[in-house]
Parts: sequence; C-alpha cells; structure tokens
Amino acid sequence: MSVLIYTPYSGEKFSKPVLELASYAFSLAVQLEETVIALVTGNPDDSDLNRLGELGVSKILLAPSTGGSVFDARTNTALLALAAGLCNASTIIFADNSWSRALAPRLAVRLRAGYITNVSGLPLATEPFTVNRSVFNGKASGIVQVNTAIRVLVLARNSWQLALNPMPFTVEPLALTGALPEPDFVVEKYVEQAGSIRLQDAEVVVSGGRGMKNGENWKVLEDLAVALGAALACSRPVADEGWRPHQEHVGQTGKVISPNLYIACGISGAIQHIGGISSSRVIVAINKDADAPIFQFANYGIVGDLFQILPELTTAVRKLKSE
Ligand SMILES: Cc1cc2nc3c(=O)[nH]c(=O)nc-3n(C[C@H](O)[C@H](O)[C@H](O)COP(=O)(O)OP(=O)(O)OC[C@H]3O[C@@H](n4cnc5c(N)ncnc54)[C@H](O)[C@@H]3O)c2cc1C
Repeated sequence: MSVLIYTPYSGEKFSKPVLELASYAFSLAVQLEETVIALVTGNPDDSDLNRLGELGVSKILLAPSTGGSVFDARTNTALLALAAGLCNASTIIFADNSWSRALAPRLAVRLRAGYITNVSGLPLATEPFTVNRSVFNGKASGIVQVNTAIRVLVLARNSWQLALNPMPFTVEPLALTGALPEPDFVVEKYVEQAGSIRLQDAEVVVSGGRGMKNGENWKVLEDLAVALGAALACSRPVADEGWRPHQEHVGQTGKVISPNLYIACGISGAIQHIGGISSSRVIVAINKDADAPIFQFANYGIVGDLFQILPELTTAVRKLKSE
C-alpha cells in the first residue's frame, strides 16, 4: 500500500504547499507503514525531482503530457485514478488550491473514497482513520473518521512545516492503460501573470484596504513591499473601485493565500476578507481604529495612521537589511 500525492509542477517550480504536502505525506506514511509516491505533472528537471526525494518521496510517477487539456479536470482525474490503482494507494493527498478543489472530490467519487478537506495534522488513529480538520476559517477544529478503505485528503494550508527526510527514489513514467477522456475544452494559450512575485506563492504579502483612501496612495505600500521582497494584495472594495487589479484581491471571492507574513494596512477585517488570509502564519494589522475586527485575527497590531507608520516601517526594514 502507498500514500499517493498529487504534485503538479508549474511556473518552473513546485509550490510551497506542494512541498509541504510531500513532508506531511512522509510522516503519514511512517504512521501507516507505507511509502510515498508522487504523481508529477508538468516538466520538472532533476534537481526539482531530487527535492521531492529529500522530503521523503520514494517513487515519482511522471504523468504523460496532456497537451492542451492540461487543465481539464476529467483528464487529470483519470490520470489520478489510474495512478491510485497502480500504486495500490490507501490515501491520496492534495495540497489546498483551486485546482485540487476541482480534482479531489471527483477522484473521491470515482474511487468511492472518504473525502476530508482542510486536514490539519496527522491521524489521531489509523484504524479507523481519524483526523483533525480545521473549520470556520481556522477558528475551530473537528475530528473526522473515515470508514472507507481508500481516503482522499486535502491538507490545510500552512498546517505542516517542511522537514528533510531524504529517501532513495525511483522515477518512472505513468503508463497509460487506455485512452484518456476527451477534454471538454482545450487551453490555447497560457499566460503567466506579469509581476515579480506571484501572490499565491509569496512568503510575505503587503495588503491595502479602503483605508488607503485612493489608488494614487499605493506608493507607500509598494515601497514596503520592495523592501521586504513581498507581493502586493488588496481587499475587494479596492479592486472594485479600480484602485488595484482584481488579481490582487484576496478573500472569499478572491485569492486564498497562506504566506508566512501578511501585513494588512487599512483593512477592517470583514469575515469575507479573513476567509482568504486566515491560514497565514503571522498576521500584522495596521489600522487607526483600535476596535477594528482585524485585530481579533492579527498576531501583532499597530493602532495608528498607516500613512505615518508605513514609511517609518519601510525605513526600519531597509536599515535592518543593510546591516
Ligand atoms: C458575498 C461577499 C463577498 C465578499 N468577498 C470579499 C473578498 O473576497 N475580499 C474582501 O476583502 N472583501 C470581500 N467582501 C467585502 C467585505 O464584506 C468588506 O466590505 C471588505 O473586506 C472591506 O474592505 P476594507 O477592509 O478595505 O474596507 P473598510 O471596511 O472600509 O475598512 C477600512 C479600514 O481602514 C481603516 N483606516 C482608514 N483610514 C486609515 C488610516 N489612515 N490608517 C490606518 N487605518 C485606516 C479603517 O479604520 C477601517 O478599519 C465581500 C462581501 C460580500 C457581501
């Protein structure tokens, strides 16, 4: 039996959640006395594959190219079901992202497997499989038991730290046993978002809300972002007003991110905003209203005028970095 992980390779690297997934799968496999197999899509080079081996993967299956149907959920579900059967997988695990939200439930139905999202740790028991899952934006946790022979899990963001568990590993192509389903659509062109740091992958994010007053004031945020090597984000009204592009909007109806550090500037902390950032490791809020809800979610808070605080913060970061 094995633990199968889905490790898509895109944008020329494995994303942080995918690497954390490999680490988590290793610890789970130790508990289950199984090994970790990764189904890799995309075109990683040898050093990327070595990275998976360092994190505890014993076998890498290279998915065949699906060409223009690379984003087709039916095609990829078929690949995953095939790999799960070949590997005799007891557990198939995904990192939490919009892509896994499309694939994981489809796979669970296909394999008649129990399906648990937002898994936040190792199982409390393996027989029956019982595990904690994070609920209500991380405000509570639930204990879930799965009674099926196979289970499909989605690991909650930022719930597992990277750990080195070097393994000798083999690499082999996933051999197709039949034709893949015809895709419903074909992607003609894939255009990467311009900008130096991709929001979803950023370790540090500096974010602005309506407290920024208008789009022309963004220079103070951009200066801090450059000093920290951070990506920029914003609340929804900011994008709706056209102050910032919609791809920077985070929250329930925007991107869901999980950086190590999220700095919220002039953002009140509405629950729809928190839905997109609650799995950040550390949240810092700058708001002039001491009663703003964001302070209930923040690890650190600064009460004051952001137009005064941000330049001082940027100067302090630059000074620290030049020392
Ligand atoms: C169905 C639905 C989905 C939604 N989805 C999202 C979503 O995905 N993402 C999202 O963000 N919102 C979403 N919203 C909107 C959400 O409810 C809030 O309205 C929004 O998040 C508020 O944005 P804000 O914090 O920037 O603005 P505000 O709530 O207006 O807050 C501005 C804050 O700035 C502070 N401030 C003002 N001036 C300064 C200053 N000089 N210095 C420091 N602080 C200052 C104020 O004290 C205030 O707390 C959604 C709403 C609905 C109904």
